[in-house]
Amino acid sequence: MTAQDCLFCRIVAGEIPADVVYQSDTAIAFRDINPQAPTHVLIIPRRHVTTINDLDADDQELVGSLFLAAKAIAQQEGLADDGYRVVMNCGEGAGQSVFHIHLHLLGGRLLNWPPG
Ligand code: 5GP
Ligand code: ZN
Repeated sequence: MTAQDCLFCRIVAGEIPADVVYQSDTAIAFRDINPQAPTHVLIIPRRHVTTINDLDADDQELVGSLFLAAKAIAQQEGLADDGYRVVMNCGEGAGQSVFHIHLHLLGGRLLNWPPG
């Protein structure tokens, strides 16, 4: 897949607008267009990775940076004390619809478990 084919690569490139809430060297985060909670942010690596299945050992730091971004955004959004959820869907069976990995950060309401 080339950057031209990938929605999230196009957001990284600034070709498609997004409500960006966080940026680092390796990651950016923006509000989900169809929020499932009062705060629903997508945290993505700047570099294209299609699914969790495509990660390799060299990506450890990249993946770690997504979680550190989640921590920072949760603090920024005032969620750190009440709690929040981070989740990454892998594959169509799990509900992945955009094939550029992304952590969902959800908070601001009571979150039930297990998810559907
Ligand atoms: P997935 O289903 O792959 O785990 O999550 C993809 C998420 O991307 C969905 O929650 C969906 O609402 C969001 N999304 C899809 N297209 C866009 C878009 O163009 N902009 C933004 N900000 N979010 C999008
Ligand atoms: Zn991409």
